[in-house]
Amino acid sequence: MTNTDMPRPPGAELVPTPSVTKRRTRQRDLIASVLAGSDQIMTSQQIHNRLSQQGQSVGLATVYRTLAAMQLAGEVDAVRIGQELAYRRCSQTHHHHLTCRSCGNTIEIMAPLERWAESVAAEHGFTGIEHVIEISGLCPSCQ
Ligand SMILES: [Zn+2]
Ligand SMILES: [Zn+2]
Ligand SMILES: [Zn+2]
Repeated sequence: MTNTDMPRPPGAELVPTPSVTKRRTRQRDLIASVLAGSDQIMTSQQIHNRLSQQGQSVGLATVYRTLAAMQLAGEVDAVRIGQELAYRRCSQTHHHHLTCRSCGNTIEIMAPLERWAESVAAEHGFTGIEHVIEISGLCPSCQ
């Protein structure tokens, strides 16, 4: 008799494993490191080529999908170049995004209300102030 079918202790399945909660994949780490090593905007194809040069076999479709997920997570910005979307690592300094709802083109902007956000929160006695401002619309090429 083996113990492979032993029931788990009660509650054991409720503890999430780090791999489930963090949802980081090998592909995501690889793509992040390619973008981190480049100051340039890169297309999915260019990132795919770079990974191939490094001996990493990641399919182009996977690169596309992973970049889209990383953009949603705010890890990368998408920039439209002609018909194509290219990506860059999101700036490390504080900024906001103006994003096209149609093609995903993203421009990094500073909001004119940084001080206002601080002062209105301080008036109400709040500390540790953070704010999130994301603006979306249709870019000139999508109108
Ligand atoms: Zn950004
Ligand atoms: Zn657009
Ligand atoms: Zn801000």
